[in-house]
Parts: sequence; C-alpha cells; structure tokens
Amino acid sequence: MGRQDFFDEGDLVAVLTTQPLDRLLDYKAPDGGCHLGAFVEVPLGPRKVPGVVWAPGRGDFDRSKIRSVIRVLDVAPMRAEMQMFLERAADYTLTPLPAMLRLATRAPGLGDPPSMRKIYRPGDVTPDRMTDARRRVLAALQEYGGLSFTLKELSEAAGVTPSVVKGLVKQGAVREEDSPRDTPFPLLDEDRTSKTLTEDQSTAAEHLCHGIRSGAYGTTLLRGITGSGKTEVYLEAVAECFRQRRQALVLLPEIALSAEFMARVEERFGAKSAEWHSGVTMTERRRTWKMVGQGGAQLVVGARSALFLPFLDLGLIVVDEEHDTSYKQEDGALYNARDMAVLRASICGAQVVLASATPSLESWANAQAGKYAKLELTSRFGESVLPEMRAIDMRGADLPSNRWISPRLVGAVRERIERGEQSLLFLNRRGYAPVTICRACGHQIGCDHCDARMVEHRFLKRLVCHQCGETKPMPDVCPACGGEDRLAPVGPGVERLQEEASELFPDARVATLSSDLFGSARALKERIREIAEGGADIVIGTQLVAKGHNFPLLTLVGVIDADLGLQGSDLRAAERTFQLMRQVSGRAGRADRPGEALLQTYQPEHPVIRAILAGDEEAFWRAEAEERRHAGVPPYGRMAGIILSSPDMQEAFDAGAELARNDAHLRRIGAQVFGPAPAPVARIRGRHRVRLLVKAAKGAALQQAVAAWIAQLKQGPNLRLTVDIDPQSFY
Ligand code: ADP
Ligand code: ZN
Repeated sequence: MGRQDFFDEGDLVAVLTTQPLDRLLDYKAPDGGCHLGAFVEVPLGPRKVPGVVWAPGRGDFDRSKIRSVIRVLDVAPMRAEMQMFLERAADYTLTPLPAMLRLATRAPGLGDPPSMRKIYRPGDVTPDRMTDARRRVLAALQEYGGLSFTLKELSEAAGVTPSVVKGLVKQGAVREEDSPRDTPFPLLDEDRTSKTLTEDQSTAAEHLCHGIRSGAYGTTLLRGITGSGKTEVYLEAVAECFRQRRQALVLLPEIALSAEFMARVEERFGAKSAEWHSGVTMTERRRTWKMVGQGGAQLVVGARSALFLPFLDLGLIVVDEEHDTSYKQEDGALYNARDMAVLRASICGAQVVLASATPSLESWANAQAGKYAKLELTSRFGESVLPEMRAIDMRGADLPSNRWISPRLVGAVRERIERGEQSLLFLNRRGYAPVTICRACGHQIGCDHCDARMVEHRFLKRLVCHQCGETKPMPDVCPACGGEDRLAPVGPGVERLQEEASELFPDARVATLSSDLFGSARALKERIREIAEGGADIVIGTQLVAKGHNFPLLTLVGVIDADLGLQGSDLRAAERTFQLMRQVSGRAGRADRPGEALLQTYQPEHPVIRAILAGDEEAFWRAEAEERRHAGVPPYGRMAGIILSSPDMQEAFDAGAELARNDAHLRRIGAQVFGPAPAPVARIRGRHRVRLLVKAAKGAALQQAVAAWIAQLKQGPNLRLTVDIDPQSFY
C-alpha cells in the first residue's frame, strides 16, 4: 500500500513542530482536510506554533482531548524527499528533528498572504503637458514593450525622480497596479554563448553533463588550481541541469564572494538567479523560499543553509571551495554542508560537484577509494602559472620586536609598487594586537567570561573577546596592579600590520580587508571590487582574501606568519595550513602576469612548509593520509566530540565522569572514549566546558551507540550537552 497522502477533516495527523519536543503530536485535520507534508499552525498549550503534518496520527491518545489543526499555510506541502532528508540528517548529526525543521522553515512570514507591491505600466491617456522628463518615462515604458516596472526601476530607467512618474499616474498616462511580491525569478538562458573551453575543461564539463543526464546520484571531486576554470566548468553542468528542466544549487563558503559570482551567472545565463544568505533581504528570502518550491527559481546561489530549501526538483549541488571550514555549522545544529549535500543528492537523484584547489583529506580519500569520481584541471587558463613560492627564514631576518615585515619582503613590495602592481600581505588575525600585556606586572588582559585573551581593536577603540564577542574599552591602568601607562600590545593583527606598512610605504595606498572592519556585507563587497580594479597598492587581509576573489593586478603575496596555523593541537592543523597557504598564494599572478609568493617562517624545514614550497600536493596528501590512517582518525576512523557545559565546573566534570564510566554502549561497537578533560577553550560565556572524545573504527555504527550512551545521563537544568559528529575543530 502506498502512503496515505491526504487526510479528511477530523482524521488524525501527527505533526512535527519546531518546538523542542521529543515526539510528534496528534491533531485532527482541519476543515477541508490537509495533505501529508502540509505546513500548518497548531495549538500547543496557550500558543499557536508552526509545524508540518509528518505522518498519520498514532491514535494512542484520548481522542476527545485531541485538538484541531488551526490552519494550513498557503505554501506547497513538504515533499516526501525533504522529510526523508531531514530525518536522515537528524539521525546522522544526532540533532533533534525539531531543530532540523527549524532549518527548513527559515523564511519569514511563510504563513502570510502574498504581500503586494506597486508596479507601473503604460496607461492610455496622453498627458496634458509634455516635458522632457515625462517623455523619457513614456519612452522607457515603450522600449520594454509594456513590461511592468517598480517605481525605482522606472525612475532609474528614465533618469527622473519618482515624483515625475507619480505625476503621470495622476493623469492616467501611467497605470499603477498592485502585484504580488513573490514573483518568479527571470528565466536563465542556458544556451547563451559561453566561453570556448580548453580541452581539459571541456572533457571535465562533458563528464559532469553526462552525470546530469543520467538523472541519478553521483559525486565528483573537481580539482584544479585557482584560475584553472573550475567555475567555468561547473557552470556548464548548471546549464545542462536547466536543459533537463531541473534546478541547481551553488554553495559558496563566503557571502562576500556572491557579488562576483552573481556577475558571472548573469554573464553566462543572461540574468541573475536567486540568492540565499544573511546578506539578502527578508522579502527576497521569502520569495526565494516560495519560488524554489514552485519551480519559479532555477538556480540558487547561497550559503550552507540553502541546502534546506524546498526545491521542487533539485538536479545538481555544487559545493565550491569544498574544503572550507565554514561549511561546518558550529552553532545550533552541527552539520557539515558538504556531507549533507551528498546526503540530499543521494535522496533526490542529483549530482554533487565538490570544487576545490585544495580538497579536504576526506574528499581526497573518497576519491581515492572510488566513492567519488575525480576530475582534474591541470593548467591555469591563459598564460599565467602558479606563482613561484619561496620561504623567508625569519631566524635570519633580525627584526625589532614590533616589526613583522622582513627586509626581503619590503624589497619585493617596493618592486611591485614601482611597476604599478599590487601586493597582498596576508595575516590571519583580526584586530590590532592579539595580546595586551602590562609591562609592570606581566598581567595579560583576558575576557571575564571565557578562558581567552582579549584582542585589541584600535579601529573600534575596544578590546574584543573573539570567543564570545564581549567588548570593553581599553583601560588606562592595569586591572591587576594599577600601573599607569604600562599596558602594551604584543604581536600583530591586521590593523597593526597596516600601521607598519603605511610607515614603510608612506606614498602607497594601503587597504585592509578584515570582516570586522565593514558595517555590512555590501560595503565589504564594494571595497573588494574597488581594490580589484586597482584602488590599492598594498592589500592587507585575513583569510577573507584567500577565498576566491579575483585580483587581476596582484602579483605578490607575502605571508606574514606561515607558522601560525601549525601551532594548534588540532588534528587538521597541517591540512588547514597547507590549504590556506596554497589558496592565498593562488591569489597572485592570475591575469598573465607571473606571481610570486613569499612565506615568512621560523621553521622552513617543517614538513608542511616544505610540501607547500615544493608544490607537491600528492606527496603532502599521501603523507598526511598515512599519518591519519596510522592514528585511526578521520577519514580513516570515526570520531564524535561531546561537550558538556555548565556554570558549575564540578557539575560538568561529574557528568563527564559518569558518561566515561558507563561506556558499555560504546564498547559494544568497539569504540573508545577519552576524557573528561577541560575543553581547549575551558570557559565560554561563563560556562565551564568539559570534553569527551569518542573514537571508533570506520565502519562502526557510531551514531546509534552515542545516542544510547548519552541517553543514560540524567541532565540537570543547568547542564548542556552538545554532540558533534565528525568534529572539524576542537575548541
Ligand atoms: P577557478 O574557478 O578554477 O578559480 P575560473 O573559472 O574562475 O577558475 O577561471 C579563472 C578566470 O579565467 C575567469 O576569469 C574565467 O572567466 C577565465 N576563464 C577560464 N576558462 C576560460 C575559457 N575557456 N575561456 C575564457 N576565459 C576563461
Ligand atoms: Zn569572552
């Protein structure tokens, strides 16, 4: 028997709400009945809450006490495939289902009736008095063959103020009408002429298109250095997806990249697509959410949460810069968008393209094992090649303690300035100085709520905790000893580096790109565009600049501290450093000017630094894979992190010890538990944090065992437990 998909009025339905409850709730279907998957509003105690009709009611409840669904919202019911995706994602990440549903309903005003806006069309009256401005408005309307405009669009197209249009409306020469706001996105034309692909590009594109035409699931790792044309290639797969009348999703790791990307979408397909990220207005988000479900959006360009949009028929998911750590959600539901993309695609018969110059070891291993197909683009498009990479041995640089740019790097920057080219000085540290120390007593200013030192931000004129965001003004006296004027910054952040660069190159235009220096994503995008067009001689940047922006005039990358990422105890420290250095170096020399990358390091013989300099990626991956295999850690083993936190340190430790003692569920699958130990950041926002780490063999049924194991713990009201399957970072 097929599943029941419509319920008549009064039938019992089980509703999943977004409330933190551990079960479905039974209700009666409302007047007019409802579909399985319907988005509804239901009474819960005194409140009305949103939910989804998840299954037939179970009926194990006194029928007379069961209340009715209040109303069915005016949006398409959730498809079976989406329900399955949410359930499997919840099981995989050990996230409660209501939290997954919240991800899938993140659009404001879903239940509202479609809102209206004013649109303008040609009217049938000739205005009594014709002015030049009025003539331009009518001409603009004429030119677009009677298409409707918004007030802003029309006045901009005609180069007049909105009041001119309003004047014409009064006369009847222009018609003003109400039209629903949630309108379909413009059609994208897959057959506009595209660039002529090089041989290896077109081989790769053909492979991807073949996968799309199969209509089945498959994942491909698309590897190629920055500038090799990965984007060009996967846009062909997007085009093929449109030809098959299916939808496509492109995930980007950083919203600052989306403007540049949208321009390419427009160039390739003749119009802009839908966008989904925190920089998009609420109205547009709602429009995207609805249109995706009705087939009024062929392509969405978005952040990781776009995976939870209700696509009608998703045929392709591209995860660009797939190695990027921002794909791992570190707040609320802990999921890795790359893995969830693969899950979603396997459910709906879609293709996944993982694009990167420096893939994650996970994806590399999956490709080696034959689980993913692998495509390589070997050469950069055009003349340019990867920059020359050299180390600057800082042990011989002999710099004063408050200087970070070595003489050799200074010389290289000067050459670029003379040639009218750009240099990038890369330092992955926001703010002015990471540490503020009292020269009298040695005290370091820390956060009151976290085990973290506060970072001076001169631009904001404050100290900021990068763990919890707490800020305070820079004190005049040392909080520990009361010494006056003895507080001194230690170490560099990008703001301090800017100061040094401005002193060294007083005539150069120095621009700093750090996410915290811009009020909005828009302002940041605008600045990036200006810089790319030559609006700066020296760019100082955090990892923000490592992510795929095009700077055609850039020919030198100076990495201020190549050792920075190697210090952590993180199992991925080497991988991260390798990727970041390669990405940053890849910024240089794109547009047929040769580039150079100089890495300042105190340990030039470190294997990671040597692998970066040698440019031998395969050797690096093989060595790293061998080490991880040996240690039985991901991707050759499985891990789960458990963080217990409480305002009371003892409570957190006791709970951790109790879990560690009662590990029968874990032992049954051969898993081991380590800890409890203070988490690397032992206190955040006043909560003490204790960590346990579970390690299991690759094939082990880790989630079920962990779920059963943590279910034993009796949790007090102050104790919080977070599970992180496949943890990416340990903090
Ligand atoms: P990646 O995504 O690998 O960094 P892109 O696809 O962004 O590479 O390509 C780098 C630059 O080279 C872009 O400006 C792109 O338009 C251009 N390009 C790549 N391939 C071609 C091609 N076959 N014909 C013309 N321009 C190309
Ligand atoms: Zn803090």
